[in-house]
Amino acid sequence: MKETELIQIALMLTPPWKVAGCQFDINQKRLDIHLDFAKGSRFSCPTCGQSDCAVHDTDQKSWRHLNFFQHETYMYARVPRIKCSKCGIRVIGVPWAREGSGFTLLFEAYIMLLAPSMPVKRIAELVSEHDTRLWRLLQHHVNEAREQADYSDVKQVGIDETSSKRGHNYVTIVVDLKESKSIFATEGKDNTTIGLFKDDLVKHGGDPEAIVDVSCDMSPAFIKGIEENLPNAQITFDKFHIIKTLNTAVDEVRRQEQTGHPELKNTRYIFLKNPKNLTRKQEDKLGDLKLKDLNLKTMRAYHLRLNFQELWLQPPDQAEHFLKKWYYWATHSRIEPMKKAAKTMKQHWDGILNWFKSGINNGILEGINSLVQAAKARARGYRTNDYLITMIYLITGKLQFNLPS
Ligand SMILES: [Zn+2]
Repeated sequence: MKETELIQIALMLTPPWKVAGCQFDINQKRLDIHLDFAKGSRFSCPTCGQSDCAVHDTDQKSWRHLNFFQHETYMYARVPRIKCSKCGIRVIGVPWAREGSGFTLLFEAYIMLLAPSMPVKRIAELVSEHDTRLWRLLQHHVNEAREQADYSDVKQVGIDETSSKRGHNYVTIVVDLKESKSIFATEGKDNTTIGLFKDDLVKHGGDPEAIVDVSCDMSPAFIKGIEENLPNAQITFDKFHIIKTLNTAVDEVRRQEQTGHPELKNTRYIFLKNPKNLTRKQEDKLGDLKLKDLNLKTMRAYHLRLNFQELWLQPPDQAEHFLKKWYYWATHSRIEPMKKAAKTMKQHWDGILNWFKSGINNGILEGINSLVQAAKARARGYRTNDYLITMIYLITGKLQFNLPS
């Protein structure tokens, strides 16, 4: 078998396309494959499908292909323009690449395979390509797959924000809680982001009035955006964010108290954790603090937080009674940050208790959030949020890509 035949089979080329020749350069670590079509071949019109159109002229093009072992591989072909009796002169598509791309489809599929698990800058080094070309490729496939995505069944969503560029900038992410996938991401974290989500949902066959449950944090912007755009949605405040509010209050108590109690220095993370997650050392430290019996406000604040968490373990008919008891305890604690946190809970009362009706799975937002952290790492070192958003869709969107596997 001739090497050109072997390559022809490996590329799965079908007539009239064939391998015309190849050059293998050991020193340059490079393989060049020249493709061509048989003289006199006729092609179908890409616009109307009419077969048997004559070639008008050709345009020489090249594509980067998958490496042949460590050798960079390029393909070359003269791409015909045909003359259709109905449509006139048209450029035909080639089976190994999409129009306008300088990469073959298999090369693109390879980059798409690497991108979720490796920073794009690193992939660019690995394949010796400019990273902006790779980003363009990723954005093309993500946008194309998103255009096809159908969100007509979405009924329960979670809304969360993530900071990019060291907290100067935010991206809002909307998650389909049933399918546990991101369905929308946009710059910003104000109420208008929910309006943009609504418009995008409609574009994908979804119905804003069919959204019955939304899980989010207690930010006034999201609450306002939901009320304005998702008229039938009941808000359930996310457990993770509620605990975060209480943790912030506990830490404020600890910081105020450590001036008079130096033993509280460097204990921040002890009070942010749950007892079962403490390291041995942290456990000992907490034990010491308890033994000394200093009647610390920090300790009482910590117990208020731990007790609140038991809300989610209550039978539904006991939940409000439990919350009322907790509220009474917190507001009578004579610890200002905890009293303030309790007032926040009072303002968001129904949305906290809605959890017992909506049954929203708190783990889904947290699970996606850890994937979003991975997306950030892949898009690190770039100024634009567009790259981060592309990566969020790629890693957490469960999109269907139109690529060879
Ligand atoms: Zn035509």
